[in-house]
Amino acid sequence: MAEQFDVVVIGAGPAGYHAAIRAAQLGLKTACIDAALGKDGKPALGGTCLRVGCIPSKALLDSSRQYWNMGHIFGDHGISFKDAKMDVEKMVGRKDAIVKQFTGGIAQLFKANKVAAYYGFGQLQAGNVVKVKQHDGSEVELKGTNVIIAAGSDSIELPFAKFDGETIVDNVGALDFTEVPGRLAVIGAGVIGLELGSVWKRLGAEVTILEAMPEFLAAADAEVAKVAAREFKKQGLDIRLGAKVSKTEVTGKGKKKEVVVTYTDGEGEKTLTVDKLLVAVGRRAATQGLLAEGTGVQVNERGQIVVDDHCHTGVDGVWAVGDCVRGPMLAHKGFEEGIAVAELIAGLPGHVNFDTIPWVIYTEPELAWVGKTEAQLKAEGIPYKAGSFPFAANGRAVAMVEPAGFVKVLAHAETDRVLGMHLVGANVSELVHEGVLTMEFSGSADDLARICHAHPSLSEVIHDAAMAVGKRAIHKAN
Ligand SMILES: Cc1cc2nc3c(=O)[nH]c(=O)nc-3n(C[C@H](O)[C@H](O)[C@H](O)COP(=O)(O)OP(=O)(O)OC[C@H]3O[C@@H](n4cnc5c(N)ncnc54)[C@H](O)[C@@H]3O)c2cc1C
Repeated sequence: MAEQFDVVVIGAGPAGYHAAIRAAQLGLKTACIDAALGKDGKPALGGTCLRVGCIPSKALLDSSRQYWNMGHIFGDHGISFKDAKMDVEKMVGRKDAIVKQFTGGIAQLFKANKVAAYYGFGQLQAGNVVKVKQHDGSEVELKGTNVIIAAGSDSIELPFAKFDGETIVDNVGALDFTEVPGRLAVIGAGVIGLELGSVWKRLGAEVTILEAMPEFLAAADAEVAKVAAREFKKQGLDIRLGAKVSKTEVTGKGKKKEVVVTYTDGEGEKTLTVDKLLVAVGRRAATQGLLAEGTGVQVNERGQIVVDDHCHTGVDGVWAVGDCVRGPMLAHKGFEEGIAVAELIAGLPGHVNFDTIPWVIYTEPELAWVGKTEAQLKAEGIPYKAGSFPFAANGRAVAMVEPAGFVKVLAHAETDRVLGMHLVGANVSELVHEGVLTMEFSGSADDLARICHAHPSLSEVIHDAAMAVGKRAIHKAN
């Protein structure tokens, strides 16, 4: 007979583990099921984010940034050195240790909060029963008064570039190269392609990014994208826009394996021969095999579970959160949805404000934004004022040898309410939260301009940009 729970969560990624822990905190008897195994073959909680996404990519970005700075920034500080070497095995080992620490941390949090963890593949049956096929081959059934589906997403595979885990890889393979590839091609100039392309570029690979769209980073503010493209070019990242890949062929054997990538751009058909190919063309909801016949849960043409604004599927007691539903595929969006659903189940007013979800790309310089871009405001006919300020005029940024980039604040032309903040530059992954907070509290550009910011700090760029909205920036001509 199925064991009864108040809440059964399928998936222990960011969305699922937040939902499970919050539900347990609220006194609900909770179980959480996850199918994933770590590199050591043992169950590893935390989802894509902790195992093969956010955290390991940031570990490698940081290692490679230190190495890059040594060759490109240390000299400005008067530091010289001889025979610098990169030990890729050690770098990847450090990343693996961080992953193990954090995935193990989720297991401890489950224990501390009395979340019952089940390790295996869960399938929702009709009547809110989840059948779990555990790793030892046994099966258990869990019945939830509520079931929260948090199955996450998988990499999209292209039919003409099948992953082989060695030469043609997705993020999983690109986080685990055993040596710096001589030549790396990346299909897709999105967040994952740019971040992982940057890692291997900084370590010495020749990196070519092929992007089918004619515009670079179309989702970002156009000026932010322009500055980023300029800086990436300076770093030697070869980004080819309007380049549609149609074919790949792996040739050679062992260490001599190569991939010949055929693509078409405005000039016609071309080929590119590389040692490794990273396919980073997006992710798709991991809903295959998740739903048995008769659950009543709807899946759309993109494989996403259909939910309403409160993450409810329309089937009594069945909810879905994170990457497997509509909305941005971001860990923190999943966190918030997981918490909101747990609170709704407990009778509290859970909600997620999609208008203030921050976006970050952890390249060098970093890109970050919240709210609307100028293009969106124009398209929606919303009158706005813009104020921007460059890092090159900020004492702290220049002292850090990080002068690239700027901050732009967009405010409503009549009310002055902040509608968006767009940043490219040093540490903007942290700075963007000043925009998030301002927007959450319905603050104005004038509010931001009147808040005392420490000097010297990078945050002064936001202060100056907010002052520039009212044409009263002190450190630049208005
Ligand atoms: C390289 C890379 C870098 C990224 N960097 C960032 C970043 O910097 N910031 C950011 O916000 N986002 C980042 N992301 C995206 C982020 O990882 C995802 O948005 C986030 O992990 C989604 O969380 P989730 O809980 O919805 O799903 P997932 O993290 O995918 O977790 C779902 C879990 O459910 C399990 N599961 C699925 N189906 C079943 C089943 N039927 N039974 C049992 N278990 C199941 C899976 O094994 C998995 O562990 C990155 C992604 C990648 C690939």
